[in-house]
Order: sequence, then C-alpha cells, then structure tokens
Amino acid sequence: MSMALGRATSGVRSLTREEAEARRALLDVTRYDIAVDMRGLFEGEVLESTSTITFRCHQPGAGTFVDCAAEVRRATLNGRELDLGTISEGRIPLPDLAAENVLVVSSAQPDTGSGAGILRTVDPSDKLVYVWTSFEADDARRAWACFDQPDLKAPHAFTVLAHESWTVTSNGAPTSVEEQADGGRLWTFPDTPSLSTYVVVVNAGPFHELREERGGHSLGLYCRQSLRQYLERDAAELFDVTAAGLAFFGEQFGQPFPQARYDQVFVPDMGGAMENWGCVTWSDSVLFRSPPTYGQRESVVDVLLHEMAHMWFGDLVTMQWWDDLWLNEAFASWASTWAAVNATAYTDGWASFLAGLKLAGYQVDMGPASHPIRGDVPGVEQAMANFDAITYVKGESVLKQLVAYVGEDAFVEGLRAYFRRHAWGNTRLADLMDAVGEASGRDLSGWTEAWFDRAGTDTLVLQGTQVLATAPAGGEPRPHHLEIGAFRRAAPEGGGLERIGTTTVETSGSRTAVEGLPEGADLYLLNDRDLTFAAVRTDEQSLGTMLGSAGDLPDPVSRALAVTTAWDMLMKGELSTDELLGCVLAVLRGERSPGVVEPFLRMALRAAEQWSPAVAVPAQLARLAEVAVGLAEDPDHRGPALRTLAAAASTSEHFTLLEAATADDNDLAWRVLARRAALGEYDPAAVEALLDRDPDPDARVRALGVTAARAEESAKAEVWAEIWEKRSIPAGSPLFGVAHSFWRPVQHELLLPWAHRYLDEVEGLGNGGGMLAVGSLMRGMMPTTADQAFVARARAMAQEPEQNPTVRAALLNGSDTLARVLRARG
Ligand SMILES: [Zn+2]
Repeated sequence: MSMALGRATSGVRSLTREEAEARRALLDVTRYDIAVDMRGLFEGEVLESTSTITFRCHQPGAGTFVDCAAEVRRATLNGRELDLGTISEGRIPLPDLAAENVLVVSSAQPDTGSGAGILRTVDPSDKLVYVWTSFEADDARRAWACFDQPDLKAPHAFTVLAHESWTVTSNGAPTSVEEQADGGRLWTFPDTPSLSTYVVVVNAGPFHELREERGGHSLGLYCRQSLRQYLERDAAELFDVTAAGLAFFGEQFGQPFPQARYDQVFVPDMGGAMENWGCVTWSDSVLFRSPPTYGQRESVVDVLLHEMAHMWFGDLVTMQWWDDLWLNEAFASWASTWAAVNATAYTDGWASFLAGLKLAGYQVDMGPASHPIRGDVPGVEQAMANFDAITYVKGESVLKQLVAYVGEDAFVEGLRAYFRRHAWGNTRLADLMDAVGEASGRDLSGWTEAWFDRAGTDTLVLQGTQVLATAPAGGEPRPHHLEIGAFRRAAPEGGGLERIGTTTVETSGSRTAVEGLPEGADLYLLNDRDLTFAAVRTDEQSLGTMLGSAGDLPDPVSRALAVTTAWDMLMKGELSTDELLGCVLAVLRGERSPGVVEPFLRMALRAAEQWSPAVAVPAQLARLAEVAVGLAEDPDHRGPALRTLAAAASTSEHFTLLEAATADDNDLAWRVLARRAALGEYDPAAVEALLDRDPDPDARVRALGVTAARAEESAKAEVWAEIWEKRSIPAGSPLFGVAHSFWRPVQHELLLPWAHRYLDEVEGLGNGGGMLAVGSLMRGMMPTTADQAFVARARAMAQEPEQNPTVRAALLNGSDTLARVLRARG
C-alpha cells in the first residue's frame, strides 16, 4: 500500500495478536468461494455476498469465530443453521467445529459510501457509478465473511454479478462473462493462488480499458470514462515501466511474476494505491489533469514499482502479523527506488528521494511521534497508526543502509533465497535477516536491534580525522556504513567543486577514526551518496562552503545532501529561514537535474511561506519568484517553475508571464486564480469561465481551492463546511490542494481561530464509524500557522488515554512541526 487511510471503526472489534495466533493454530483454510452480487450498487448502496469457506480444524469439537462486519442474513456451518443472535462486534461464533468444515455466510453491506473497505462513487461529470474495494488491514470482513488475518492464506474463487454495462476486475483474468436472464452479467474468475484476505479485490464500473501484451504478460489499465484522455496520454509510459518492472523484479528476485494478467485500475477517491494480487488499485488523482511534470511522473513510477514489488514481498511471501507491516512497506519503498534507478529512465531516484520524501522521515523521527521502526502491534488498529514516514521513509533508508552494509550482491542473493524458501507462506523479520545474513556471512542480530528497535536519528560529525556519533537521549549510536566525499575548488574564485576523493567508513560506537581522508579539501561531505540515515554536521570551513556553494557540487545526490543538511539545521534552530533560503535558492539558480529541481522548489516555497514571519513572507516569496522566472526559461523545468511562480507571484510581470502560459494549462490557471484570490483579487467570473473550460471531474474542487485562498471569513467558512461537514473533497491530492490554499500563513490573524477550530473538529471525530479517511483528513488539514496555545492544546489532546492512535500521531507530529516553525519565525 502506499499512503494510508487510517480510520477508526465502531461496532466491530479489532483482532488481537493473541486471537490471531490462536485461530492460526486451530485452523487451515482450504479455499474461499465468494459469490458477490453488485447489481444493487448500480442504483443503490448495497453490496451482497455469499462466502463459502472450506477449512480444517486441528481440534475437532473446538470453537472459534469468523469475521463478518456486514449484515449477516444467513449462516450455516456444515449444513447447520447458526444462531444469528450470537453475532457480536463483527464476529460470528463457530461452535463445535468438525475436522473438515464448510461455512456458508450470506451478508449485505449497506455502508458503501464511507470508503471503509468498499467505496461506491458517482462521477460528478457524467453520473456514472464506480465501485472499488481495498481491504488492508482488515476490511475484507466488511465485504464478506472471512478469517481476516494475514497468515490464514487460501485460494479465492470469485463470481461477480454486475450490471450489464459494467466491467469487473479482480485478481486474475475472468474465465467467462455470461449474460443473465434476470439482468446483469455473471463474471467468473479462476482460483487465485493462496492469498491473504487483504490482497484480494473486486472492482466494477463502466471502466475504460487499455491492454497490451508485453514480455509474456497481459497488461491492463483501467480508469473511469471521464478520465480516459489522461490515461491514454500516459498509457505508453505506464506500460513501459510496468513491463520493465516485471522483468527487473522477476530477474532480481529469482522468480517471474507467476501469472499472465497484471492489471492496474485507477479509481476515484482513493487515498493511495493498493497491492492487490495481479490487480493493483490506484487513486486516479495520479492521472493528472494537466501534463504532468517530471516529478509527478517520477512519483507515479515510484508508486507503480512499489505496488509491484509487493507482488513478491507481501503477496507471495506475507508477514505473519501486522507487527512486520513496516517491513512490508519499507521493502516495497526501497525496491521501488532501486528498480527505478536500475530499470527505468528515472536514474536520479536516490537524489529525488533524499531531497523530497526522506525529509519527512527525519521530521517525524526528531519529534514526539517518533517510534522504533519495529513496534509492538497488539491489535490491528495499532498497525494502521504505524503507517507513517517512519514505516515508509525511514524504513526505506535503513534498508538502503543494510544494502550498503552487506553489499548489493549479497542482499539480492539473500532475497532470492528468502522468496524461494517462503513462497506462498508467511514470515517474520528474522526469516529475511537470516537469509541476508547467510548470503553476506555477517551476523546481523546486533545491527537489526540497533536499527529497528530504537527510535530517533543519530548525529554524525566529522572532527579532524574522526567521525563522532551521538544517539538521541544518550543512547548507543548505531553502526553506520557511510562515505565521506572530499571536494576542492577548481579555481580560487568561483569554479566548481571537484571531488578529490571518497572515503568509506564503518562507524562503531561514538568515535571512529577515518583512514585515508584526503587533505586540503574545501568541503568534506559526510554521508555522500546518502547511504545512511543520520543527521550530519560538518566542520566550520566545510559548513561555509556547503551553505554558500552547494550548487557547485558535481552530482545531484551531493547537492541534495548539502541542501537537506541545511534544512535539518533550520528544523533544529541552528540556521535561520533566511540562510536556508539563501542556500537552496543559490542551488536552484543553476540546478538542471530534474530529479531535484522540484523537491528544492517545494522546500524553498515551504520555507518562504511557512517558516518566515508573516511580515517577511512577501519579500521571501519575491526572492523565490525571481529564481522561478529564471528556471522557467529552461523547457525541461518550465512546468514546475511556473507552478512555483504561481504560488509566489507578486508583480504584474509575473502575472503576465503566467497568464500567457495558462491558455493551455488548466492546472496552472487554477493556481493563478488562487494566488490572485490570496492577494485580494478574487474574480468569480474568471472562476466560472475556467469551470466551463476545464473537463476535469474535480474542477469543482479546484474552484473551491480558489475560494479557500481568499482572506475572507465567509470564504474560509464556506470551504470549512465542504471539508468537515459535507466531506465533499476527495481524499489525497484534491484535499491537499484545498488545504494548501486554505492555510496561508501570511493570513495568520484571520486563520488563528480556524486553527483552534481544527482541534474542535478533531475532538468531534471521536471513534465513530463511517469516518472518511480520518488520517488523510487530519494530516491534510493540519494548520501550517498557529500559536503556542494551539501547540499546547494539541499535545494535551494527544495525551488523552483513549485517544485513537492515528489521531494521536497526527497531533504529535503536526504540533511538533508547528512549534519548530514558530521558533523559526521568532
Ligand atoms: Zn506498500
């Protein structure tokens, strides 16, 4: 999965680890035969299903329960009627099991509008209905009865009845599609391999479908009709990267993806993407409504390869329990960047990762929401709370460090052994570390404990010819395998920085001598090539060179390391916003690597508008606008440069330049209208005209983004109601766009009451059912301006004993960042 839809549910009980272990010890599931009736979703809200579960019990006479968080209409066990009155909290008791059992449960799920496992949506532009399912971690039980835990794997055979105008996609290719006498069509799918309940899927709707045969695989792409032009625009690259990824992973992992069919279904209003076996579902917000920038295309490739890596790591070999979910996600994230760099055109993937995503990992890790990568997960609910930047980003970084520590060849050899040994089974972290340890000849037990069981980020400092390492709270620093790049000015005045040497160091404890460090460098760059996860600090002379001349470094990873080190210093109060901007803007003036231009632009914009005192924001944005105007002259960077300019524009020259570019770019046009609205030039006629011109089904949301930017109480109130009361903004990027418009720190005085109102809304969320993507909503709408009272109240709310873990983590992390911002604003 990529990104989370953390949500709380009511009326159903979360499975505990002890319950899962007991049920696993008692049962083996032979197969699931699931008949789904989606005809009621064409005009109504109800999904019906009959789940037939064939399973063995190792202790005949014993009892257990099956999960079904839907309205159960009938249940029989071995032909006996089960008493529906015994059903409680989403569980059907199964007393007196035989050695061989057949359980048949018919159920109906009327809640198909909240996104809990199933979402039925109506496209606002053409009124067509689409339905998707997405079950991680334990939402399969909302669609049909099942033993909803990852280590009770079994083949699933689906039959799906759906309206005759609908296409159904599931984990494999349908074996038949038959017209029904009483209306609709019956789709029959073959047995899947032995799969966990959370990676099966059924989607339906009048999809637009594209197919290509590549490398022995039948590749499918699906989207809703209103987005077909965008899918067709991007299809060539999606097919290319899919084919390249399947070939690369098949080779590296030592076994090809074992079925012909590999589909990717782009669906409305989904917060991320999900690795359903052979049928990945994606949020269709990635089918960008204006030609995507390099960074946007790179992010799509990243998600594509991430979900694909899960076919092996997650689906083929699955974690025993959710306490290893981090490993699942960290691995897929690492494998995705690794494959992008080695098998696609996105060869700057590691630089992009460092300049962009990795900062989120550092940010969470330095605050009170940090936790060890590996955590205790006593119940499923806790697993979802751990879906954060520690899981994905720090986890990816630490696996990159592991690859550096044992060597890539040994790591890949270990992976092959792991997939070979455990195919179609379940594992724990130790199984992977054993395989990699054997392949590398290294005992990884101490390394594993140091990196996975301790929170926080070590700091590494080069002092003379020694690396000093410190761990948070006085702990023992971890072992770091890293490189130190030594750079010297080519000419005394100006000129680039030339690499005069690279030294590899493996640190041990708090003080490690460095052998062979070249003398006389102007800059020693710790953690060059970004092999480890650490805050790095350099000596005084190097610091001056790094801040003033980062743009002269010869490769994008080195430049990204310099800039992100400056960002880390800003976060920790060691550098002013002005100094950070000086560093990143100087780099941007000459930056040509597409992998880092966009993350650097985002960082500069964030610093200028969020990390500066309100009175200084216009001047800081003007500095950024000037750099963006320069970058826009380069055709390779024109798109992202103009988008940044649209956020920072302040002069009539800026708007003249932008207006010329908006004629054929609706996305940019919306951004310009929002910027004008923020500057007090709201133009309702221009909004109406653009609504008429823009075919995007989410155009209404973009218009709301323009309203959100206005410095008017009534405008803020209108948008607030859409977000919190009507819940009308699709999760993911549409929500983030509106939130960014809403929270304009330059409007600090106007926004302060709204920041407190945000906490009121969060308090009101409670743990009730039907909550739409609470995690996404909370993180998306976290204020970017507030005061100390907000920070104190958010921290107090986080400490409430009954607080939902997802809510707690979002409050802790968001308030920590705000506290740092307030300090930087002075
Ligand atoms: Zn994932």
